[in-house]
This record gives sequence, C-alpha cells and structure tokens, in this order.
Amino acid sequence: MGEVSASLDDLPIRDDLRGMTPYGAPQAMLPITLNVNENTHPVPQEVADDILDAVALALRDVNRYPDREFTALREGFAEYLGYGLTRDQLWAANGSNEVLQHVLQAFGGPGRSAFGFSPTYSMYPLLARATGASWIAGHRDQDFSVDADSAAAQVEAADPDVVFLCAPNNPTGTPMSIDVIEAVYDAASGIVVVDEAYQEFAPRDEGSALMLLPGRERLVVSRTMSKAFAFAGARVGYLAADPAVIDALRLVRLPYHLSALTQAAATAALTHADTMLRMVDEIVAQRDRISATVEALGYDAYESWTNFVLFGGVEDSARTWQALYDAGVLIRDVGIPHHLRVTAGTEAETTAFLDALASIGSGS
Ligand code: PMP
Repeated sequence: MGEVSASLDDLPIRDDLRGMTPYGAPQAMLPITLNVNENTHPVPQEVADDILDAVALALRDVNRYPDREFTALREGFAEYLGYGLTRDQLWAANGSNEVLQHVLQAFGGPGRSAFGFSPTYSMYPLLARATGASWIAGHRDQDFSVDADSAAAQVEAADPDVVFLCAPNNPTGTPMSIDVIEAVYDAASGIVVVDEAYQEFAPRDEGSALMLLPGRERLVVSRTMSKAFAFAGARVGYLAADPAVIDALRLVRLPYHLSALTQAAATAALTHADTMLRMVDEIVAQRDRISATVEALGYDAYESWTNFVLFGGVEDSARTWQALYDAGVLIRDVGIPHHLRVTAGTEAETTAFLDALASIGSGS
C-alpha cells in the first residue's frame, strides 16, 4: 500500500504538459563543474561586504512588502547599460528565465507561437509551451550561424508572435550580427527578444542590440547578472525595451515579485559593476585557451563570443562526457551528436578540464 507513487499521467494535469521533460542540467558535486555557464569566480570580497551591508539594511524592513517597482534597481540597470536608457525602459525579475517568462505571458500564450533558431537555449521551448504557446524551430547553417536573408525569410514564413534571438547563442557560442537582428525585426510582426545573456564576453567594440531600441517598440533586449556578474545564485535578470512593453509586463508579473533582499543585493552589486566584471577578461582568455587546445587535441572548436566553448569531432559524446565525469570534471552534453560544451572556468579549472580531456584520447 502506498509503495508505488503516482505518475504525471495519473494526475489531471494540462494536456499540453503531458510528455514534457523539465529543465535538467545535472547538479553533481564534482570538484570541477563547468556545465551551466556560470562564472566560477566568486564575488570579490569588497563587493560581498557591501552587499551584506545592503541586505542587512533591507532586512530591517522585511516585515513590509518590497518596492513593487524596484525603482533603485531599474535606475542601476539603466546606468550600467548606458545607451541613454531610462528606468521606465527597464524591467527585472528572478533570473532572465523569469524575465522571458513574463514576455511570453504577455505576448505569447494559448493559440500563439514562439520561434527560435535551433539549436538554441533549451528553456525557450519549455517556457513557450509552459505558458501555452507552440514552439517553432528555425534552422541554422552547418557552422550554427544564420545570415540576414535566411533569418528574415524563416521568420516571415513562420510569422511567430515572439521571436527569440540568442545573441551570442547558447549552446553554440555563435555571434549574431546587428544586421541579422535588424532584418529579423523588419520581417517579424511580433515581439523580437534579443537574449544577450553572454554579451559581456563578446568583443568590446561589437555593438549591443540596445543600439537598435529607439523607434523599435517591438524589440526587447534581455540580460542577466548570472554570467558576467557572477551572481547566478541571486537570481537577477533584466531587460530593456519601450516603456509600453514594460507596462505590458506589469500585467502578468506577480505583485512584489522581486524580494527586498534581492533588490538590495543586486542594487549594491551594480554600484560595483567594474569590480564585478573584473574577471570577464580572464574568463575570455580561458575560453580562447580552451578553443586553441581542443583544436590541438583534434577536436573542432566553434567560434565563441560567450564564456563557453562548443566543440565537435567527438566520436562518442556520451562516453567522453562520462570519462570526464569519472575524472571529476562536469561538462555538458547538449544533445548535439558528436559535440560537447564546456564553460570557461578559472585558470586552474580550465587546466583540469584540458588535462582530463587530453588524457582520455583525441577526437575522431
Ligand atoms: N538565456 C540564456 C541564453 C542562458 O544561457 C541562460 C542561462 N543558462 C539564461 C538566459 C537564464 O539565465 P538566468 O535565469 O540565470 O538569468
């Protein structure tokens, strides 16, 4: 009695959720974890001290609901991003996953569709379907790039309500140039989300899609503090868009969705943006070292503007993943046959990965 627990099929769950699998990157306690594109450098001590003071202060008023409009934080993001942005163009939530969910709740939903160029961030189809929309997968070239003509033609043909452009793209690292984003915007009739989760790791002289915002009221540019800012555990993502888009997001968010502690921590961290971002150059150096070394080992590294590298030419990706795991190194099998993805860690972590990879044999 009671030994066999119920399965999802035994529950009166929504029909459109049947058969779905949840986001499931393994969270294994291995010495070297380079599987979810975190910043593996801890928050610098002087910033951590300031954050602690800010959180302690916020704690005194924690009996009250937080500022529903997270005004100070939005001002902090506007200042950090630049491009003449003001706080009425900023939005934030508990990770950019929640930011993207808000966009889908407001502009997707039942009877509507969302689109992305596959392979891309695995949460887009999950978020789209969980909020009732269908998912349309577009395609990329052999090297995972997508050019303006092809991108525009695919978007025009699919005519989705929400387009996700992951720029640069996860899990491939592939850059997306501004002219592709412009072409997709012109071809789309719905909302175009440019997910710049990894933008800080791109070459500095390359522009952000933020430059395209003026006059484009259907354009949304999302960012996160999880990667460059080493703040994944705090859960803070944000976006910039026309103030009318922000008004639409207010319709779907839960009241007081950003806790007073989160607001205090993120606002304090932002005042130290330069220090928080100090490790970006070091991570980029490790990323480029990974690319060069896996190439030398006989694999194919894809161009990356992110904090990770996708490499191909892996004879048996499940076996290589397991051999690395057994050596204490966790990386990611993203489901692309003969490919694996690794996050650039500290110099020591990167060395541990490269040494382990070298010791288990070369690519095919
Ligand atoms: N977008 C992309 C492209 C990502 O890779 C990730 C995290 N892996 C996210 C969004 C979500 O990040 P978070 O919710 O931590 O802000």
